[in-house]
Amino acid sequence: MTDNQDYIKPDLPALAKDGWPTLEKGWVWLVGGGPGDPGLLTLHALNALRQADVIVYDALVDEHILQWANPAAEIEYAGKRGGKPSPLQRDISMRLIELARAGKRVLRLKGGDPFVFGRGGEEAQTLVQAGIPIRIVPGISAGIGGLAYAGIPVTHRDVNQAVTFLSGHDRTGLAPSAINWQGIADGSQVIVMYMAMKHLPEIAEKLISAGRDPHEPVAIVSNATQADMRILETSLIDAAKDAAQSDMKPPSIICIGKVTLMRQCLDWMSQAQGIAPRNLDPLGVRAQADSA
Ligand code: SAH
Repeated sequence: MTDNQDYIKPDLPALAKDGWPTLEKGWVWLVGGGPGDPGLLTLHALNALRQADVIVYDALVDEHILQWANPAAEIEYAGKRGGKPSPLQRDISMRLIELARAGKRVLRLKGGDPFVFGRGGEEAQTLVQAGIPIRIVPGISAGIGGLAYAGIPVTHRDVNQAVTFLSGHDRTGLAPSAINWQGIADGSQVIVMYMAMKHLPEIAEKLISAGRDPHEPVAIVSNATQADMRILETSLIDAAKDAAQSDMKPPSIICIGKVTLMRQCLDWMSQAQGIAPRNLDPLGVRAQADSA
């Protein structure tokens, strides 16, 4: 093995050259910033940070990421802060259009993946309707990468062949009304919920009424991938009560289903600190190392 230094040699190709895309004046790139850990940014995101004249970022973007921006870049915050209401989506889109029309290279940086419950689709549509050229840079979504940091695989052959990503509220802020709860309860062994802490009591109750086992395991991961990540292991019936009694801080992702048990074996972050796995076979089906 070579020394680790060999991997961080400074003679890597400059990202904006050699076929890497150039952020041109008047363009807007909608870029996913991942769930928090800056190491989960994509190289395209880093490339965008280096080139942008203006960066418009959201509340869920880890501010460490902004340290990689071009030092001359203007940085604008477009999230909710200090109890003030979030800026209207329309105002954010209009601001992006204004910046692009002023000839700026605009980076719109959003938490996770811009097209997963992040209104990225709406922003992109408004830009295209205004004739602004765009590029989309996907990111690691909290509902996949965030759970992976808690040692939870969103799919596992012994548990599920499907996973449902669910928003905990609809555009009115209420628990989602257009959801076919029976369909979800019957059809998806694993349910990953974003923005669902507020309406968790109602959602859990709907899933149980639709036939989900009240004792089904649930994991709630707050500040996933960040230094202050917290994980609560509970059950569908107790999830809302346990969450209310905990000191978990938003944002939180909620995973319902037996894949959450895999954490007992795959909590790699604890293992890195020398804590042994609690259970090598949490699903009770793979006592031996199995190559099949
Ligand atoms: N586009 C984002 C999701 C935006 S919706 C993505 O792909 O991840 C906002 C919700 O995402 C939060 O309410 C929370 O449910 C979830 N979320 C985002 N970042 C998170 C994090 N670091 N830890 C836990 N949940 C997170």
